[in-house]
Amino acid sequence: MAAITMQNIVKKYGDGFPAVNDVTLDVQDGEFMILVGPSGCGKSTLLRMIVGLEDITSGEMRIGDRVVNKIAPRERNLSMVFQNYALYPHLTVFENIAFPLRLAKTPDDEVRKRVTETAEVLELTEHLERKPANLSGGQRQRVAMGRAIVRQADAFLFDEPLSNLDAKLRGQMRTEISRLQRRLGVTTVYVTHDQTEAMTLGDRVAVLRKGVLQQVGSPRELYEQP
Ligand code: ADP
Ligand code: ADP
Repeated sequence: MAAITMQNIVKKYGDGFPAVNDVTLDVQDGEFMILVGPSGCGKSTLLRMIVGLEDITSGEMRIGDRVVNKIAPRERNLSMVFQNYALYPHLTVFENIAFPLRLAKTPDDEVRKRVTETAEVLELTEHLERKPANLSGGQRQRVAMGRAIVRQADAFLFDEPLSNLDAKLRGQMRTEISRLQRRLGVTTVYVTHDQTEAMTLGDRVAVLRKGVLQQVGSPRELYEQP
């Protein structure tokens, strides 16, 4: 686990107006931070800079005590969950969850141990030998989360993970993500444009508008009328 600290972060694509403009934000160790704001305000760009899918134009970003501008993306040990959670249809649930460990050439007994533990946390133990096609939408989403969890990453990054789900499943997954994050206590940055998610999931909410950080506070501070 690690804190994520951003100081005066700027991102310019080409020579246009900055997509992210002088953002300074500390996500504390174990904190669940929501990034919210209208489409195009720079949420994904900020997340992609954290994970290393986009270069930072200027400013300093740290994960724990390491300056990430200088760390290669694959050295960052972060886990990202996207909305289009792509599971491998030909692999079992076990192997889908194990995938990042196989890539890292983790020894078999360690893979078995970590996948088993992860499946327990996610209540997927009974389904480990099934294929994704035979799972419900919620179970598939949990497998995708399992893949993120099994790596024991320093932080979780979510990019609108629920936006393709129907309302019922979205409600269930909100509860599930909240429960998991609290249980695991992993530093989390969660991007959404959904106000219900912003109000219910996070410890704090950061509001972005046109690339500028407008407000940071607890859901109560931001959404309850005085
Ligand atoms: P959000 O996630 O809040 O919808 P984005 O971070 O995707 O916002 O986009 C922020 C701004 O940066 C938008 O104006 C968008 O058009 C622009 N942008 C995003 N990605 C690129 C890119 N690869 N090249 C050029 N402009 C981009
Ligand atoms: P690659 O094919 O090398 O993964 P990408 O452009 O897809 O190239 O990703 C560049 C780097 O960004 C990856 O090496 C990885 O470290 C990081 N990355 C990509 N996707 C994720 C993800 N879902 N979670 C965490 N890190 C990721």
